[in-house]
Amino acid sequence: MFDIVVVGAGPAGYSAAINARKRDKSVVVIGQHTGWLAKAEKIENYPGMPDISGEEMLSIMRDQALAMGAQVRPGVVHQVIDMGESFGLSLGADFVEAKKVILCTGAKQPKLLPGEEMFLGRGVSYCGTCDAMLYRGKHVAVVAQGHEAVSEANFLAGLCQSVTFFGKQEEALDPRVIVCDEKVEAIFGDDRARGVVAQGREIPFDGVFIFRDAMALSALMSGLSASGAFIRVDRQMRTNIPGVFAAGDCTGLPLQVAKAVGEGCIAALAAAQEIK
Ligand SMILES: Cc1cc2nc3c(=O)[nH]c(=O)nc-3n(C[C@H](O)[C@H](O)[C@H](O)COP(=O)(O)OP(=O)(O)OC[C@H]3O[C@@H](n4cnc5c(N)ncnc54)[C@H](O)[C@@H]3O)c2cc1C
Repeated sequence: MFDIVVVGAGPAGYSAAINARKRDKSVVVIGQHTGWLAKAEKIENYPGMPDISGEEMLSIMRDQALAMGAQVRPGVVHQVIDMGESFGLSLGADFVEAKKVILCTGAKQPKLLPGEEMFLGRGVSYCGTCDAMLYRGKHVAVVAQGHEAVSEANFLAGLCQSVTFFGKQEEALDPRVIVCDEKVEAIFGDDRARGVVAQGREIPFDGVFIFRDAMALSALMSGLSASGAFIRVDRQMRTNIPGVFAAGDCTGLPLQVAKAVGEGCIAALAAAQEIK
């Protein structure tokens, strides 16, 4: 079990990890190297690092966190579960346990498809590795909105009767995967059938797998208090759930690296203080 788990590998997450290590706490950062900052061509307003690209800045932060002994694990956290004395985080087939959680998930929250929440766990899944066996020999759709979509589709192709891939391909797909250019607009379902709606047309499938690089807050952790799209925090970056902190763009404006880094630091120090 880790002392602290950080969800999101951006400036807030790396700052939280660096400062947790300064308090000698074990810490793991979970996330992809693809956050908002990587899109910034140039950052000119962060003290001490003038004229640097977002990608470069992110790499330096990551290397610093690693050098200080933080672990960095690629993946998307699907759910944070409050287990009383600790927290369990599911990332595909993997599971991480920690005493404290710091959410650094950024401002860019995915928009759920109409019907998605209603059929989650009843035909809709976020994890191929976890749920593929339920659809062995069946027909499934993959809605690709994240980096894991291709590898998960290729994995499903080995088990399912058919896999239909909706979305952008960033790597080579298994030749058994059927590629469909249509955009998925919704998930439909009733007692008889379930599937996706694309270009106004209902296409039935036994299961629909949706892969994204981030999760909607409501799906990530139930009971988390939010104000619009932002997580509510106090000045110590504590959320309404004891043991859960939040930092960076996910707590509100201004959406700036300096604020994200500062909040990551405060959250880590406050979390470390609560660990006996
Ligand atoms: C084009 C552009 C230019 C910018 N220019 C500047 C600038 O000049 N100066 C400045 O100060 N700021 C700038 N910004 C804003 C800056 O990038 C953000 O304020 C900063 O990155 C916020 O850091 P963060 O760690 O809070 O969130 P992010 O950098 O968004 O990182 C959050 C990370 O969490 C991940 N994540 C989300 N959910 C999950 C999950 N469930 N599991 C695992 N990982 C998850 C996301 O994929 C992402 O990698 C710019 C942004 C953009 C897009």
